[in-house]
Amino acid sequence: MSVTDSRPRNLILILGDQLDAKHPALAAADPAQDRVLMLETADEATHVRSHPQRIAVFLAAMRHFAARLQADGWQVDYRKLSDGVESLSSGLANALERDTPDAVWLVEPGEWRVRDALTQCCERHTCALRIFDDSHFYVTTERFAQWAKGRKQLTMEYFYREQRKHFDVLMEDGEPVGGAWNYDKDNRKAFSKKGPVDLPRPHKFDVDDITREVLDDVSALFGDHAGRLTPFRWPVTRKDALLALDDFIQHRLPLYGRYQDAMWQGEPFLYHALIASALNIKLLNPREAVDAAIAAWQADPDRYPIAAVEGFVRQILGWREFIRGVYWLHMPEYKTRNHYGHNAPLPDWFWSGDTTMNCLSQSVGDTLRNGYAHHIQRLMVIGNYATLAGLDPGAVCDWYLSVYVDAVEWVELPNTLGMALHGDGGVVGSKPYVASGAYINRMSNYCSGCQFTVSKRTGDNACPFNALYWDFMIRNREALGRSPRMRMVLKNLDRWDSNELAEIQGDADRHRGHPE
Ligand code: FAD
Ligand code: SF4
Repeated sequence: MSVTDSRPRNLILILGDQLDAKHPALAAADPAQDRVLMLETADEATHVRSHPQRIAVFLAAMRHFAARLQADGWQVDYRKLSDGVESLSSGLANALERDTPDAVWLVEPGEWRVRDALTQCCERHTCALRIFDDSHFYVTTERFAQWAKGRKQLTMEYFYREQRKHFDVLMEDGEPVGGAWNYDKDNRKAFSKKGPVDLPRPHKFDVDDITREVLDDVSALFGDHAGRLTPFRWPVTRKDALLALDDFIQHRLPLYGRYQDAMWQGEPFLYHALIASALNIKLLNPREAVDAAIAAWQADPDRYPIAAVEGFVRQILGWREFIRGVYWLHMPEYKTRNHYGHNAPLPDWFWSGDTTMNCLSQSVGDTLRNGYAHHIQRLMVIGNYATLAGLDPGAVCDWYLSVYVDAVEWVELPNTLGMALHGDGGVVGSKPYVASGAYINRMSNYCSGCQFTVSKRTGDNACPFNALYWDFMIRNREALGRSPRMRMVLKNLDRWDSNELAEIQGDADRHRGHPE
């Protein structure tokens, strides 16, 4: 996109996950004097080999956003992949040498690596760098750090309650509306044997010329990355992001809470919101999502149960903000943690879905087809397996960062390393989210289509999750025993004699050595 020859006062670098209509640096800038710089780089698509849909979401949204800015009178120096910019820092360095601005303006990046590289680049070029707080979030990193100060354990529930009070969300006379902070007992049901009935289909967005061009570019340059590029279903403009939110509120929110944790073969989306990518690239503001859900409940409480609405608000105002706080509190050291010392490589089927374990084949398959799997597939199927099988947390985190359309490191890393793998040693969760095949069987219909027998602990055709689960308990018995919530589970080990324990460990070794 064209720019004038004049030297800009400030260069406003807008990253692919900062496409905020209320971008704080733009709000403070002057289109007559300042210039926007946006960079598509091969490095961002390949430093983890990203799913083609993930790359397409970022690039299509960036190109639409830049077109919008230009229409609004901004000078936009936009570099496409075809311009051959290798990395964000080399692209910024070129611009600094060419334009010699007074300063670079940047909103806090969503990844420590990027913040570090861009800061260093400005230092090398002795150019001032002004970093703006990201006003997209409810809670600043400083406020989270204050909340965390002096606490032995960071418990999401307490953080969430404080935010509800502070932002006056779902509160009445200082108390939570409905009288409870948490409606988990009404939520998290499994489907009956018939499965989901009359499931609403998510809105499918039109692919316009800009998105079509991006899909062609991604296909030409990254067509060999694992995962399908089409059908492409994700919102990449502000208008479509609002439509995606509305589609969720109208059609899926009423049953969101109840089936939040359920899984069903061939139904990857169920009642989920499908807005995480739009939120994370900032096309959508979290307040808009929270307010829309509450407004729906206020207008029609019979159709929108408080349990569904509170469950949704908890994910956005609670988990999403908490996870971001943890990331910035503990990075960069956090990324290197490996609490259990796990080091097994990822089985090849993580890149194909080609495994005889049906739950994993379906969950990885959904991921590769859509760039999406819902929370419980990510946590209790794939993450659960990765923990029990002792996979290298670094490799697992890179996989999660590469395959989901909504993956940005501040949200991916604590969810994967902390919540799913318990590899951070207990920052995100006080105990590991691990389960045997019985949990997967209770929450899905995967086991009925599997060659393994979910009720068998060991021996031929026994579900691999079972031996792996009990072997994990045996290996980590002492440390897990310190958590009161694990003691009941560990008592089971006392009922088995040494032969049974040896059989479990032998089967677990076999599964780990020859991933099915
Ligand atoms: P819904 O399930 O409908 O939830 C609504 C919204 O709540 C989501 O859009 C999201 O913004 C928010 N939310 C829900 N749970 C979380 C959570 N644990 N952390 C932060 N926000 C949450 N989410 C990402 O946005 N990016 C990631 O890279 C990511 N990686 C994950 C990796 C693992 C191992 C796990 C267990 C979870 C991960 N999550 C991630 C959280 C969650 O799985 C996704 O936000 C959700 O599946 C996105 O789909 P949805 O929009 O349909 O969300
Ligand atoms: Fe997964 Fe075990 Fe069920 Fe097969 S039997 S689908 S491996 S939980």
